Amino acid sequence: MEESADRQTERKVVAVVGGGLVGALNACYFAKRGFQVEVFENREDIRKAKIVKGRSINLALSHRGRQALKRVGMEEKIVSKGIPMHARMIHSLTGKQSPIPYGKKGQYILSVDRANLNKELLTEAETYPNTNLNFDHKLQDWSAETGLMTFVRSDGSSNQVQADLIVGCDGAFSAIRKQFLRRSRFNYSQTYIPHGYMELTMPPIDGEFAMKPGFLHIWPRNTFMMIALPNLDKTFTCTLFMPFDEFEKITTGDEVIHFFQNYFPDAIPLIGVDALKRDYFRLPAQAMVSVKCSPYHIGDKCVLMGDAAHAIVPFYGQGMNAGFEDCIVFDEIMEQLNEDFSAVLPEYTRVRVPDDHAIADLAMYNYVEMRAHVNSKWFIFRKHVDNVLHLLMPKTIIPLYTMVTFTRTRYHQAVERWHWQDKVINRGLLLGAAGAAVGGAYLLAKNPPDVGKLVGPAEKMWDRILALKTP
Ligand SMILES: Cc1cc2nc3c(=O)[nH]c(=O)nc-3n(C[C@H](O)[C@H](O)[C@H](O)COP(=O)(O)OP(=O)(O)OC[C@H]3O[C@@H](n4cnc5c(N)ncnc54)[C@H](O)[C@@H]3O)c2cc1C
Repeated sequence: MEESADRQTERKVVAVVGGGLVGALNACYFAKRGFQVEVFENREDIRKAKIVKGRSINLALSHRGRQALKRVGMEEKIVSKGIPMHARMIHSLTGKQSPIPYGKKGQYILSVDRANLNKELLTEAETYPNTNLNFDHKLQDWSAETGLMTFVRSDGSSNQVQADLIVGCDGAFSAIRKQFLRRSRFNYSQTYIPHGYMELTMPPIDGEFAMKPGFLHIWPRNTFMMIALPNLDKTFTCTLFMPFDEFEKITTGDEVIHFFQNYFPDAIPLIGVDALKRDYFRLPAQAMVSVKCSPYHIGDKCVLMGDAAHAIVPFYGQGMNAGFEDCIVFDEIMEQLNEDFSAVLPEYTRVRVPDDHAIADLAMYNYVEMRAHVNSKWFIFRKHVDNVLHLLMPKTIIPLYTMVTFTRTRYHQAVERWHWQDKVINRGLLLGAAGAAVGGAYLLAKNPPDVGKLVGPAEKMWDRILALKTP
């Protein structure tokens, strides 16, 4: 009894600012450790709200995110409401569909509903008696010296709250991060890519999915692309990624249809002409920002996680997964360093910054891969080579996508290994090709053929090689 009273008086207050995906999960991690957790969220409770504003309707959940959910007992609940996607399904201009698997048989990513995931995490956080959720609390200002935060509410009132540790999970435009910007030796960069995104809905046909649901559908068109992820209600959410100036060139319903006829003709009957004409103009295209910063902490008072620390472009499907993994990494360091904030916070910065910066760069790279490289026969050939080598030597050669999506290999180590593997495989292919050429020349010299008969097949072979190299 006495011991538990002592624990009560000693209990430190952790304020999690932002009750989005990462904030809600983080609340569970801190509550599990016994801290008094106060979550402050700008929006009203999304479990009660009629309209939930979010940045995308669905998200791809993969290994890192699943591991983070597992540690708070949430994995099964979320996975059971997700739709497995085993491969990318590439749609050519002619409407031909070709799958490119994500990994080995049985490996898949999951399409999950963003709003449902957020609601489930908030409900889970609330099951801990030492957690309070404070909605309609917008952080206006805070002091890194005292830990005093000022919140404003929609009725104009404000209140002040003190905490031992402030965890900034308030997203890409973090109010917490603003204090960091005023301090010396804080590195910060923010890049808007010239592309925006727009979401369109593909309804079910006769109560069934309009396309095969076990895939992430991609229409790669080199400088832009459309993707589609399945939802539980049998719709697909299609996201069109395109340079803003291209979006702006389309100003009438007929121009939308003309554009789709040119680039996504197979999607027109599936989305519907009227829906396309209407939905294209419902909301303007949204911007995408990449934010990198360092350090992630101020003294023993404040730490940034999730998009507040590293907003990344969405092309590797890793923003939320990386944010969820932040929670695991922080928790592991808390364990190693006995929850001593003055040691934990700098160690977290040291460990996590290189990984988050690596996935930010990879996400930028993957945009080119998704919209352009997947059209190249050489790229598809190399994917097959990587997969075969992975099957033969599973510990030596691991495709980059596998390391990022299906393992918890540190992001920066995955990038280093990828560069090394690429060098080795390309050299191997070159040596193999050179060996085959020397062997062929030797055989030809030994048994000179009738040259006239060879010209046709040699020309065909050359054409094929050229076709492999051109995208
Ligand atoms: C189009 C698109 C597709 C994506 N697809 C994927 C995907 O497939 N897989 C994936 O892993 N990631 C994906 N992401 C990235 C993912 O959405 C983010 O990484 C994730 O939402 C980050 O969660 P967060 O909690 O850090 O930030 P957020 O989700 O932005 O949550 C921040 C919360 O803080 C609150 N807040 C903000 N300011 C204040 C304040 N001053 N006071 C109090 N509260 C405040 C906000 O209301 C919000 O609830 C995608 C992103 C986009 C844009």
